[in-house]
Amino acid sequence: MIGPAPSTIAGLAGWSSLLSDPAGALVAFDFDGTLAPIVDDPERAYVHPDVVGVLGRLGNVVGGVAIVTGRPVDSVLRLASPVGVHGLGGLVILGQYGVERWDASRGEAAAPPPPAGLAGVRDELPRLLETLSLQAAHIEDKGRAVAVHVRRLPDPDDALERLQAPIAELAARHGLAVEPGRQVLEIRARGIDKGQALQSLANEMGASCIVFGGDDLGDVAAYDAVDEMRRQGRPGILICSASAEQDALTARADIVVAGPDGLVGWLAELADQLRA
Ligand SMILES: [Mg+2]
Repeated sequence: MIGPAPSTIAGLAGWSSLLSDPAGALVAFDFDGTLAPIVDDPERAYVHPDVVGVLGRLGNVVGGVAIVTGRPVDSVLRLASPVGVHGLGGLVILGQYGVERWDASRGEAAAPPPPAGLAGVRDELPRLLETLSLQAAHIEDKGRAVAVHVRRLPDPDDALERLQAPIAELAARHGLAVEPGRQVLEIRARGIDKGQALQSLANEMGASCIVFGGDDLGDVAAYDAVDEMRRQGRPGILICSASAEQDALTARADIVVAGPDGLVGWLAELADQLRA
C-alpha cells in the first residue's frame, strides 16, 4: 500500500472509496487539538501554519471540507483566516457543536438565539467557583455556551474532578448539558452534538465517504456518527490527533497521527496522492 493508508478493515474500505471517488468525500476536522495545538489560553490558540493551505489543496479535489468544533464560528474565522483561500470556497464551519453554521460560499453565519438557561448559569457560575475555592478557573463566554477552563490552575485534574458534580447540577437546573473536554467543562444547549452536525452535513452533500479527525471526548459523538454511517454501508475514515493527555479516541481510530503536526503531514501526503 502506498501513501498514508489506514490499517483497519473499516478504514481500508474508507480509503478505497476516498481514492476512487474523492469528489464524493466529505473531509471534516475538529479544531482545537486537531488543526490547532492545545494552548493554556483558548484566546491565544493558533492554527498550524500549514493547515489552511493543505485544507485548500484538499478542497480542490474532495467534495467538501468542514470544520466541526466546540468553538464559535467567529473565533475559527479569526484564528484560521480561511476566507478567500484557494480551494476553500466551499468550506463549511459548524461551530458550537453544530449550533452555528458558516458557509464560505455565502460568507455568513446562521445560528438560533442562545439557550434560555444560559443567563442563569452565567450569573451563578462565579459564586459556585468561589465556594469551591476555584475562582482562578477561567470562564469563557462563548455566547451560546459557557466554558470553565482549569488548565492554568495549580492542580487541573483535581479541579476538574471537584467541578464535575456541581457543574452538572448547575447545568441540569437550567435545562442545559455539560460537554467535557481537555481541562475544560462546557455548559451548553442539550440535544445537539458533533455527530448530528456531521451526519446532517454528510446527508446534505450526499457524501459517499466521510473522513473525520478529532482529538478529544467532544469528538466521540462524531466518531459514533461515522461508525453508524459505516454500518449503513457508507465508508469512512476515523483519524485521531493523538496527545499524551487524552487517549479517548486512539483505540477507535483507523489512523493515529501525532497531534496537529502529524495531521498536517498526513493531509499533505493525502492531497498529493489524490492529485496524482
Ligand atoms: Mg479538540
